[in-house]
Amino acid sequence: MSKPDLQKKYNEERQKRLRPEGMDQYMDFRDPIIGSKLGRDPWVNYDFVAANCSPLKDGAAIKFVIIGGGHAGLLHAVRLLDAGFKPEDMVLVDTAGGFGGTWYWNRYPGLMCDVEGYIYMPLLEETDYVPKHKYSYGPEIRGQCERIASRYSLQGQFCTQVKHQQWDDEKRRWIVKMTQDLGPSRGLVHLTIETQFLITAAGLLCVPHVPKLAGLHELMANRKVFHSARWDWEYTGGCEAKPDMVNLKGKKVGIVGTGATAIQIVPELAKWADHLYVFQRTPSYVGPRNQRETTPEDWKRVACKQGWQYERQDNFNHFVSNDPAPENMINDGWTAADSYSIAGFVGSPSRLVTPDTIEEYITSLYQIDTARAERLRAHIANVVKDEATARKLQPWYAGWCKRPAFHDDYLPSFNRPNVTLVDTDGRGVDHFTESGIVANGKAYDLDIVVLATGFYTRGKDQSPSGQSNAPLVGRNGVEATQKWSSPEYASLFGVCSNGFPNAFFTSAAGGGISYNLTSAFDIMAGFVASTIASAHKRARDTNTLAIEPTKQVEDRYTDEVQKRALWFSVLETCTPGWFTGEAEGAFEEKTPERQAFQMRRAPWGSGILDYKRTVLEYISRGDLEGIELRD
Ligand code: NDP
Repeated sequence: MSKPDLQKKYNEERQKRLRPEGMDQYMDFRDPIIGSKLGRDPWVNYDFVAANCSPLKDGAAIKFVIIGGGHAGLLHAVRLLDAGFKPEDMVLVDTAGGFGGTWYWNRYPGLMCDVEGYIYMPLLEETDYVPKHKYSYGPEIRGQCERIASRYSLQGQFCTQVKHQQWDDEKRRWIVKMTQDLGPSRGLVHLTIETQFLITAAGLLCVPHVPKLAGLHELMANRKVFHSARWDWEYTGGCEAKPDMVNLKGKKVGIVGTGATAIQIVPELAKWADHLYVFQRTPSYVGPRNQRETTPEDWKRVACKQGWQYERQDNFNHFVSNDPAPENMINDGWTAADSYSIAGFVGSPSRLVTPDTIEEYITSLYQIDTARAERLRAHIANVVKDEATARKLQPWYAGWCKRPAFHDDYLPSFNRPNVTLVDTDGRGVDHFTESGIVANGKAYDLDIVVLATGFYTRGKDQSPSGQSNAPLVGRNGVEATQKWSSPEYASLFGVCSNGFPNAFFTSAAGGGISYNLTSAFDIMAGFVASTIASAHKRARDTNTLAIEPTKQVEDRYTDEVQKRALWFSVLETCTPGWFTGEAEGAFEEKTPERQAFQMRRAPWGSGILDYKRTVLEYISRGDLEGIELRD
């Protein structure tokens, strides 16, 4: 296809999918009705949590509260320990019944990470753990989270939702209200505790959401319905270790969604369901994964020297930031030369995009991307035997618009006689009924519906209040959402902000981002730990110590964020999805003020490694420049 034709086709496909309601097309598990019906924790052992995972009692005081027990929370805790703090001084609070974050909740069949496990699983070298495969499966990743927690003696306060966080400037403490749900027999426990340092590391994709469509309640009342992040093994049969879903024999199964999650589930459902209907709104690019076991020879090569994991993470980040390193250590679909365009979502040091070079920049990124897109469309046509189905599975958007996926069994599933692709040509399913799904005007009777429809990504509230789903009220009673939505907004490294003493967060706004989020979280965690530790060394009284960035330093940093933000202008050409907040902004007038507002909230446009260099340079100067210290 010629270049103008391709762009026209991409644009037509985008137009079909733009929805003025944006993120509001979904309802998420914070909604009490939907939450109570679909959000129940299937994995929790309330007796265990009550006996072992409730270190905080009402009225307790603790030095550090870390919100989140997944990769981000664990890395923050470990970096604080590395900096000299003690495990008994910190508690990781999570709504889950254990460590793992996203890997606690997600236990669907086929669950794995298609980013190499050697770089994705945190602290492999420190815990002496050898991943079983190049791409690790879910239980193994959760196991690594549990291993880290136990190796470092970390305390978790589980089944606990933070409700409110308020800074008390006299006490120099955060007053945090929380509710712990200890299950039907014990009920709710309300706690108010004090902490000197509050770290929000709640991750990004934690709250599942489902389409806000008519008939969902009727469907739930009459058929089995669950979200991919709350798999019902009891209903399907099988378990994580042996996913033999024998109860699906004779059943008609529908799965809504064809994102990274559905791509892993579909091949498993296809093995057991009598018939599987895959409801598609937008296809994903699915490249080959080439899974393999880790051999002793592999491991000798990979873990070849001290610090190998950090060097390997950097190596991956070079490639996905369109800044290739001389050696390609990972050597997979993420790091292939024609994939460099996916840097459109994560930033790159390759150029500084200015208003007068936007057009030329976008053209250059499309040039790289076209080879990748054509290769993957040809791959689909090769694998999927039915031509019409293959055509419907071919995506028509640039590689930076949606998360690329890699799987060896997804596409071949559509060659099975018991699998039907129901493509809705960008419209999505019409609605639900008491016995199934209506799509393209046709009713599908189903016994079970799996909603692989993704997660709330905080929509317009990118503040730490949005991240922890609880108001964060700083000095002088200013709520984070208020600052984040005003022209006053600024942060230092996307991690701390003036007016919020001793509060830290892991934010994409102003932060560095990567397709390997573990590496991004670790940079932030390193900054937080070293800043707190350096401040302790300087403080006369560490007990009353309060630190926060000055307005001047955060403004200066955020000016730099803004300067680099036009790198992300390619996202404006995208089909909707969570990468773009469902094309948020497509229906807004682009005033210079609005544009500046968005650019100041962009991630670091020069890529994750440049962000890391900037943060490390700051740390190595050791002068806490721009951090106001009160003690
Ligand atoms: P996504 O948000 O990526 O996908 C949701 C899917 O639901 C999309 O295909 C979406 O279509 C579809 N959908 C939503 N509403 C409707 C509707 N009304 N009718 C039909 N389809 C609908 O969620 P996922 O859970 O798949 O993935 C979320 C993220 O989790 C990934 O992007 C990735 O970051 C992470 N992940 C990582 C994995 C890994 O290997 N590391 C594996 C799994 C997930 P549309 O595209 O049109 O919006």
